[in-house]
Amino acid sequence: LKKPNVVILGAGYGGLMTTVRLQTMVGVNEANITLVNKNDYHYESTWLHEASAGTLHHDRVRYPIADVIDSRKVNFVKDTVVKVVPEENRVILENGELSYDYLVVALGFESETFGIKGIKEYAFSIANVNAARQIREHIEYQFATYNTEAEKRDERLTIVVGGAGFTGIEFLGELVNRVPELCREYDVDPHKVRIICVEAAPTVLPGFDPELVEYAVNLLERKGVEFKIGTAIKECTPEGIIVAKGDEVEEIKASTVVWAAGVRGSYVIDESGFEAMRGRVKVDPFLRAPGYENVFIVGDCSLIINEETNRPYPPTAQIAMQQGEVCAKNLAVLIRQQGELQAFKPDLKGSVCSLGEDDAIGVVFGKKIWGSKASFMKKMIDNRALYLIGGSSLVMKKGKFNFF
Ligand code: FAD
Ligand code: NAD
Repeated sequence: LKKPNVVILGAGYGGLMTTVRLQTMVGVNEANITLVNKNDYHYESTWLHEASAGTLHHDRVRYPIADVIDSRKVNFVKDTVVKVVPEENRVILENGELSYDYLVVALGFESETFGIKGIKEYAFSIANVNAARQIREHIEYQFATYNTEAEKRDERLTIVVGGAGFTGIEFLGELVNRVPELCREYDVDPHKVRIICVEAAPTVLPGFDPELVEYAVNLLERKGVEFKIGTAIKECTPEGIIVAKGDEVEEIKASTVVWAAGVRGSYVIDESGFEAMRGRVKVDPFLRAPGYENVFIVGDCSLIINEETNRPYPPTAQIAMQQGEVCAKNLAVLIRQQGELQAFKPDLKGSVCSLGEDDAIGVVFGKKIWGSKASFMKKMIDNRALYLIGGSSLVMKKGKFNFF
């Protein structure tokens, strides 16, 4: 019998979880498993706000993929996926081509600009390790330059964060701790620094527990954040942003604009002709793309509906990893042609939003938590994600142990 070719695209939470689970389930003689990723490292997307603010070194956020895959069973290909041709069971890479019997698309998220003018050109987004490094370095450069110029340009010290969702708030939580350090390092008067968060919805963290939202807003305001709520970013320019609150339009001059106002699935989904909404494919209960029984889609490129609310589940690492586990089981069933496919059902344990390294808010197993307890919980969640993929040795290498 011919060994089936299983190709997994993307080594983020979904793709890597699929790979490490599958390699424990099938033998060397049962399948050829190929994992494709742009880089030879995995990064914890959920820690990127820390690398972006400069509170955590970018090397802490990533680890070699070789550390967690079994090279006897998995062939790793470092390349960029251009598109999938699902009718022909082929994947086009920048430097080659692969054919598959079973495919897993786990190419993750990109920033969604909603077509707003100037965002792509002039704003930064917390999208991957290199984007995070660029944000950190750009901010540092503004502080370093401020005092060297004869004519002081205060907008160098203005940082705008677009969007007060989880990403925006977690980034602000890091930034308010980083800015005092930058002020000391570059002899900048802290009073000159402005950190502005612009949120289109009537509240910060729309949909989250209002008491916890108030806790977060109070903390961030105390540390210097100005919130502009019910205010939408309409345009980004080389000088800053244009916002509107009702009919009132305002220009804010800022040398740094970080766009954290939305995500979408990978452009590869659109390039490949899958039926999708913002790069996310509504998958069947077994995580397969409609019309293609041998194509699984997991993580932020997939869309599943929460039947209780009739709305899509938010794209999270929590769901991506759970999907990876089910996807691996389903692949094993197909490879062996024995057993039944498992339907995916998310098992949501809650969510915790960090507010810097020693504070957080969250709802876990239905209970509200905040302060150091929530911060401890957040680090445990981060460590658990490492554990699920790379076991205790990965936790020892990369884990967060700075609890108090
Ligand atoms: P990703 O983690 O995005 O991985 C995709 C992988 O594919 C990457 O390795 C990438 O390099 C690779 N890739 C992409 N395109 C190509 C290509 N064309 N060719 C080859 N390789 C490619 N979720 C939570 O549940 N909890 C949190 O606390 C949390 N915190 C977050 C904090 C921040 C700052 C951000 C931005 C997101 C956070 N999320 C959180 C959301 C979470 O990060 C995503 O839902 C999750 O990363 C999705 O996993 P994924 O496997 O789909 O993709
Ligand atoms: P999001 O879509 O959740 O939030 C974006 C925010 O930007 C929204 O509040 C929206 O109202 C606002 N917005 C949109 N357009 C705007 C505009 N023109 N001007 C001003 N504001 C605008 O995106 P996110 O925060 O990047 O989160 C993405 C996903 O990742 C979510 O599923 C989230 O749950 C997950 N995530 C989870 C955590 C965590 O669990 N700790 C952390 C980060 C991200």
